[in-house]
Amino acid sequence: MSDGKFTTQAAVLWGTIPVEAQKRILAAVFCVKCRDAVQIVNFTGDVDKRGDVVLKGSCAKCGYEVVRVVETSEDQPQNN
Ligand SMILES: [Zn+2]
Repeated sequence: MSDGKFTTQAAVLWGTIPVEAQKRILAAVFCVKCRDAVQIVNFTGDVDKRGDVVLKGSCAKCGYEVVRVVETSEDQPQNN
């Protein structure tokens, strides 16, 4: 994870997520302009009040701002 700026807390929480799950998350962020799940690029990571990681970045297709909340507290990698 060299791209993007994460807060220390966000980096720790994000690091607890399996890499495969991270890839799925980053590749399926909903863009309101594309009306589709897109790849998020140039993203930053922060932590909200609930302790979830909040990824903020741009849609890889159109560049519109996209946000993805990752509920690390309820992470269930096997739920597929
Ligand atoms: Zn888009």
